[in-house]
Amino acid sequence: MPEHAPIIEVQPPRRAGGNVASPSAAARLPAFIAGPADAAAKLGALKVLTIGVGSVGGRVVLHLARLGLASLWLIDPKRFKAESILTHDIDPRSVGKFKAQVTARRCKAISPATRVFAGRVRVEDLPVDAFADADLVVLATDNLAAEIEVGRRCVRFGKPLVQAAVHGDTLTVQVRVFGNADQQSPCPACGFGEGEWRMLNDQVRFSCDGSGAALVQGALPTMSVSSLCSLAADLAVNQVLRVALALGESVLDTCLEYCGYTNRSVSSRLVRNARCPAEHARWRIAPEIKFLSACSPADLSRVAGFDPASASTAFAVEGFNWVESGMCRCALPQAVRCFVPEARQRAGRCSQCRSSIRVQPIFEHQVVSAALLGAAAGQPLANLGAAAARCVWLSNGDESVLFRAPHDQRLP
Ligand SMILES: [Zn+2]
Ligand SMILES: [Zn+2]
Repeated sequence: MPEHAPIIEVQPPRRAGGNVASPSAAARLPAFIAGPADAAAKLGALKVLTIGVGSVGGRVVLHLARLGLASLWLIDPKRFKAESILTHDIDPRSVGKFKAQVTARRCKAISPATRVFAGRVRVEDLPVDAFADADLVVLATDNLAAEIEVGRRCVRFGKPLVQAAVHGDTLTVQVRVFGNADQQSPCPACGFGEGEWRMLNDQVRFSCDGSGAALVQGALPTMSVSSLCSLAADLAVNQVLRVALALGESVLDTCLEYCGYTNRSVSSRLVRNARCPAEHARWRIAPEIKFLSACSPADLSRVAGFDPASASTAFAVEGFNWVESGMCRCALPQAVRCFVPEARQRAGRCSQCRSSIRVQPIFEHQVVSAALLGAAAGQPLANLGAAAARCVWLSNGDESVLFRAPHDQRLP
């Protein structure tokens, strides 16, 4: 996994002739029937993370900005293409620019009080705890691997997920709302059929560099008309309002489908597919630890309430792999036994031949068991090579706990 690309907070635009007063989002907010009296305040406290800001997601965030949210995160690694003009709500001058940045700047101009962040990254490259501080997640991408990853992260942290999609040929819009109340809740992959799994295979190309990393190819572009994308965005935002303000009957774990050929809309229940191969695991978030790297894996397991000596206790440090041994110029493998940054291929120098020790994938573990750590489990992470640890994941086989240090890529 590459180093985390920075997620940048967008600054308000400087306007010629001084700042124009920004209206309060409450100025046009209706009195929703049976809605909360403090709807504007509730929206003003809401933090929404949006994955995919293209023809659908780009419009969703512009609507959300108009609701005066507390913060908006826009995640999309792609740039606008010339064809984007046909389906996206963009100015032709934006072609060639990054979707996340351009759209984030527009959101900030609409709602200067909202903290707006742009990330030119894939969801897979976000910090492991990126979803932990959001109140709600919006998903609008055609990339199936990204859908699975977003679903998995929402289940982990129990975040409601609103997914919007279009099917141009049938003039159909679908908006799914996943409640993620517990591990038995449905996820986006629960509904995948054979076709989706086949398409996922086509979208994923396995890298031949020996790293075993799967590279996701660009998915096919959305074939749709602009109005259908816009309809999907509008219906998705309506569901966001329903969830955030608890308007009407609960829409959690439902799919709303509108078909432009029949002009009919149907709402159906989403259910967990018992055979869904995607991970459905809930994580507990431990109180933040200021000096996380001063803790040892054994300390953390005790805080988590796990048995540090149990064979089923496992650890993972975000951004690091546990390296058992590597190869140098000497004939025998050299013991390394420490955490090494994921991107790094070398782990120090051999004390005998002085050549650098190359990390070998088979002796490298993303998840390391207490048994493998052995006595090292009693050492502070900083002494084990992970002084820069931001997040540590622990599991006892049944339960997972995430420990976090304060860091600058957190959703404020
Ligand atoms: Zn599932
Ligand atoms: Zn050597």
